[in-house]
Amino acid sequence: LRDRELREAVRAFLDEEIRAGSFRPAVDSWVQGHSPEFSRKLAARGWLGMTWPRRYGGHERSAYERFVVIEELLAAGAPVAAHWIADRQTGPLILRFGTERQREFFLPRIAAGTLFVAAGLSEPESGSDLASVRTRAERVRGGWSVTGRKIWTSHAHRSDWLLALVRTEPRDADAHAGLSQMFVDLAASGVQVRPIRTMDGTAHFAEVLLDGVQVPDEMVVGAVGAGWRQVRSELAYERSGPERYMSSFPLLVELLRQPGLGEGAVTEIGVVAARLWALRALSLRVQDLLAAGRSPDLEAALVKDIGTRLEQEIVEMSRTVAADLPGAPSARLRRLLDEGQLAAPTFTLRGGTVEILRSIIAKGLDSIVARGAEA
Ligand SMILES: Cc1cc2nc3c(=O)[nH]c(=O)nc-3n(C[C@H](O)[C@H](O)[C@H](O)COP(=O)(O)OP(=O)(O)OC[C@H]3O[C@@H](n4cnc5c(N)ncnc54)[C@H](O)[C@@H]3O)c2cc1C
Repeated sequence: LRDRELREAVRAFLDEEIRAGSFRPAVDSWVQGHSPEFSRKLAARGWLGMTWPRRYGGHERSAYERFVVIEELLAAGAPVAAHWIADRQTGPLILRFGTERQREFFLPRIAAGTLFVAAGLSEPESGSDLASVRTRAERVRGGWSVTGRKIWTSHAHRSDWLLALVRTEPRDADAHAGLSQMFVDLAASGVQVRPIRTMDGTAHFAEVLLDGVQVPDEMVVGAVGAGWRQVRSELAYERSGPERYMSSFPLLVELLRQPGLGEGAVTEIGVVAARLWALRALSLRVQDLLAAGRSPDLEAALVKDIGTRLEQEIVEMSRTVAADLPGAPSARLRRLLDEGQLAAPTFTLRGGTVEILRSIIAKGLDSIVARGAEA
């Protein structure tokens, strides 16, 4: 009952916001819809940092309650990009590996929607092969001097901090060793952020140039050299949530509002809905494993691989169905179709490409089979 009440409260809030013109439902709103003001409205209702301890500004709600809020925000295509990365992965990472001072500094501000974090993983020569990052941090008195280049960093030009994966030891035979994570102040001297324009005409991500940026020791997250293990746990958060199958959901909602949908269209939409429901069950399972402190890489990769291909199919299917409607599609549907068409190619790239995810899945299944054979 509590979950249903929560869902209804989020829906009522979103309906009211749409009516008041605070946002218009959009495809891919968790990446494209950047509104610090909207993030703060959610924070005021206790919908950021939902599962975190109260002493860090959180609300001690369950992982499922957070899931309910996330689903409603995505279904409505609400502008949630400003806080998305910090709320989804940086906060849990700090809770798990951060120092007490980092928890006290970052978490209440993230939960209040006043501090935004960008994810500094990819580099010009390091995307899929993340362990090959070259941005290096060299020891200086009291901290580190960071030099290198990050790219495709979502909202770096609108964020306060960059959580960067850097090399703290020269690369040796084990590429996964010698990596660390540290918070870089995006206002610090030596940081240059250059927005990158995409084919839809907007600039949601950026290139971040770091030239001898000073990072104090207290901004290193977890143990120096343990960056790879930590990033793997962060990626499980990044790959497994409803946003990996709901980016184009507002399109589906608007499609269902069109008069005169034929039997064939209804069947196609029904098939998609059934597949979404199965993915939801898998995603929920991953949230349980994460809440239990596990790093379910294999399951998270499955959600992202199957989910992102489905959200692309939703765009294609919607286009075909819209073309066969007896009347003209609504203006909103036409706009959402355009947004979907432009955003869809990125769904299967960001957060790990299809090929990389399948390689994780294959290796994970292989080790399950091997364990079974041993037993
Ligand atoms: C919208 C968007 C937002 C993003 N936001 C962020 C962000 O906030 N922070 C961040 O750090 N990064 C971000 N990224 C970057 C994203 O994580 C990378 O684009 C992605 O990991 C792929 O890396 P790459 O672009 O370097 O491609 P590459 O690694 O060069 O891959 C190119 C192609 O080769 C294939 N390939 C590569 N290696 C293998 C292999 N071993 N086996 C088989 N095939 C292979 C890939 O699957 C791909 O098809 C974002 C990307 C997009 C599109």
